[in-house]
Amino acid sequence: MARILITNDDGVFSEGLKLLADALGEIARVTVVAPDREQSASGHSLTLHRPLRMQQLQENLFSVDGTPTDCVNLAVLWLMKDSPPDLVVSGINFGCNMGDDVTYSGTVSATFEGTLLGIPSVAFSQEVEEQFSFERAAKFAQRFIGVLLDEPLPEDLLLNVNIPAESPRGVELTRLGKRKYKQVVVEKEDPRGKRYFWIAGTPEWQEEEGTDQAALSAGLVSVTPLHLDLTDYRGLESYGDLAARFDDLTGDLET
Ligand code: MN
Repeated sequence: MARILITNDDGVFSEGLKLLADALGEIARVTVVAPDREQSASGHSLTLHRPLRMQQLQENLFSVDGTPTDCVNLAVLWLMKDSPPDLVVSGINFGCNMGDDVTYSGTVSATFEGTLLGIPSVAFSQEVEEQFSFERAAKFAQRFIGVLLDEPLPEDLLLNVNIPAESPRGVELTRLGKRKYKQVVVEKEDPRGKRYFWIAGTPEWQEEEGTDQAALSAGLVSVTPLHLDLTDYRGLESYGDLAARFDDLTGDLET
């Protein structure tokens, strides 16, 4: 039976995590290692400047007082080191993780870490509107992971899956969409007269065919293959003239 490590960024007691673990527990041996509290928008952050504590809550359920990336490290490199997972699965997140937002996401970053450690990884996020259902999403996740486990997987496999709020009409392979930059910083004053800030704003998306956001809008499950190579390959081609002007920058730096 395949071994699956499950984590998330909504915390070890979140409903999406529990339903995902129950659903995947029917088709694989599941170990859950998740943050002890919500770590949404923690990105790919790794805790290096304080000790980490792991607590066993049930036989295969552990919490860590750190980020999703910490959880994957402790699970793969310590807890499961003698029988490493075949797959890292993250989620099911409360809310989408699409387009430009994926680098903020602790849910998706956990899968970055899984892939860095050589383990195929999948993130699931649920669009949250009135009619959404984690039960439906967990059932879909079980079928989806079942299909993946049928075949040997490439170790750099990294899939970002977003599930629409209404009952999905199908599954589409997509690219990351683009957010219109509507983020706002709200300035306020605290009771002692000192300034403070909230980063706020609701995301708005550019409607572009083939994107994760367009698939969700069409009532489809979006599956975006990701990789960690952030190189701008078009830039390598098109910035040649600019690069030529860098040539003179390194002369006489020692004087
Ligand atoms: Mn979250």
